[in-house]
Amino acid sequence: MIIAYLGRNVKDYRENILRYLEDLALTCPKCGSRTVFHATYERHVHIDEIVEWLTIQRVICIKCSGTHAVIPDFIRPYKHYSTGDSEMSLRDVDDGIPVERVETTASISTLRRWIAEFREKSRQAAGALRALLFRLYAGTVNESQLFGLKIFGVLEKILKKLPRIRSSSFVIGNTNIWLTNCMAGIFV
Ligand SMILES: [Zn+2]
Repeated sequence: MIIAYLGRNVKDYRENILRYLEDLALTCPKCGSRTVFHATYERHVHIDEIVEWLTIQRVICIKCSGTHAVIPDFIRPYKHYSTGDSEMSLRDVDDGIPVERVETTASISTLRRWIAEFREKSRQAAGALRALLFRLYAGTVNESQLFGLKIFGVLEKILKKLPRIRSSSFVIGNTNIWLTNCMAGIFV
């Protein structure tokens, strides 16, 4: 799976996905080789109160024949809610708002699952981002710069040191674009 910027929202995605895809040189997350368009499939995503169906493009690697779905960064991998909805909920929880009082279209049990998963994976993602920063740009972030920051603050700090990329302006989406396009083997 590859996360990419494919439009700001569902409408932009539907109208311009082919143009966005053509502008990207997507490489295989497994072996780094070139990919070409493969099949498509339909999946749903909850945007606010509405369930939207999206056509997801798959690409196939010319070398290892692995196929990979290309997911827009405004939805989260294997989740059926928008990145915006889950990021805002997770930020609220991070800021100390009780789970029962977080405003989200997801159920409490879904939210609790997001929190538990994110707690574990976001720290790993931050580590992987720092490793990428060093490997690709010889950049570093000192522990002292991260001291006392909540996880979104940590991710933002590292993302700021990386070159700016087009994304839907969510930390989760931005992080996932970097991680899935640079063979980090993890996403949030
Ligand atoms: Zn490959």
